[in-house]
Amino acid sequence: MDLYEYQARDLFEAHGVPVLAGIVATTPEEAKAAAEQIGGTVVVKAQVKVGGRGKAGGVKLAKTPDEAYEHASAILGMDIKGHTVHRVMIAQGADIAEEYYFSILLDRANRNYLAMCSKEGGVEIEQLAVDSPEKLVKFNFDPNTGIDDAAAAEIATQAGFSPDEVPALAEVFQKLWGAFAAEDATLVEVNPLVKTGGGEIIALDGKVTVDENAGFRQPGHAELVDESAEDPLEAKAKENDLNYVKLDGQVGIIGNGAGLVMSTLDVVAYAGEAHGGVKPANFLDIGGGASAEVMANGLDVILGDEQVKSVFVNVFGGITSCDAVANGIVKALEILGDTATKPLVVRLDGNNVEEGRRILEQANHPLVTTADTMDSGADKAAELANK
Ligand code: GDP
Ligand code: MN
Repeated sequence: MDLYEYQARDLFEAHGVPVLAGIVATTPEEAKAAAEQIGGTVVVKAQVKVGGRGKAGGVKLAKTPDEAYEHASAILGMDIKGHTVHRVMIAQGADIAEEYYFSILLDRANRNYLAMCSKEGGVEIEQLAVDSPEKLVKFNFDPNTGIDDAAAAEIATQAGFSPDEVPALAEVFQKLWGAFAAEDATLVEVNPLVKTGGGEIIALDGKVTVDENAGFRQPGHAELVDESAEDPLEAKAKENDLNYVKLDGQVGIIGNGAGLVMSTLDVVAYAGEAHGGVKPANFLDIGGGASAEVMANGLDVILGDEQVKSVFVNVFGGITSCDAVANGIVKALEILGDTATKPLVVRLDGNNVEEGRRILEQANHPLVTTADTMDSGADKAAELANK
């Protein structure tokens, strides 16, 4: 789960990372009041979970509370890269002398943890990494020791900071590691990390991703979920404990096992090229026990997606055999009744497949077509979606 900047700011503060005052506002009036409370120059910052807000006009300095009101009026409701701004953060203005970059992330490709640092922050780091990779220090470290004193000093030194600058930065790096570890984060990025005119180091913008798999031991993280921003279908799927991700296509997908579902997405996308470019509409893994109830919940979520024109059910019978899955589909259609309105292509294989197919044939449901192979099923579902 990605956090908003204001949530990252609060989390940093809780872990002793130096930040400036910040107050969230949802109306220009609240923005003005927040600016009065903070006092002096403030920055009005769009709260959207996407980078490059500054360039898009979503970060504006305000010298007076009235100016904060004006900027908030302009920024609230703004569209930044497809994200509507519902909130702004009124942040205390910083006296910026220099802008740096620092991040900690889970380095999946190298099965390790990685810290990155550059003296050139504030800019788009992806671009810096391409144009001047030598200016971006990459430092792998052992998560068991984390970023200790020595590691933090090493990172700052490698990044080109002078010996008198290193201690202050090293302290902040360690605090950021503390936040990363304690919150089960997979990303903590500060861009810019600034040095003020007075020589203080402050995290001015924070991007944090926390690992949802650690939710069970991070009870506080539930509060960070922004229900208003959640896709309603994904929210419904979550309520039913379904592994569902909404995509942009027309062919609904249900399968068992993440690997099978992912390859089904590929096969459907490929088949769709011959049928008007239709694409998979979602990822949905109903897991091992494909019971009627789980199947009905899954179908219900998928059929609730207005873009869906057909559904491809691709199940490999294992511990839950094909006859149980076929019964699940038949019962699911019974449960859904009139709400099931879109054609279903079902491909079953594996344990007890003959019996599974026989059950589907006998039920002879008008919406159901069966397929013998994954390719032919994908092709049929794509064809139906393109009608
Ligand atoms: P982003 O564009 O989404 O990454 O938003 P940032 O929070 O990083 O802000 C973009 C830029 O605005 C920063 O790199 C700073 O140059 C500038 N900025 C942000 N806050 C302040 C501030 O308090 N004072 C000044 N002078 N500039 C700021
Ligand atoms: Mn930034």
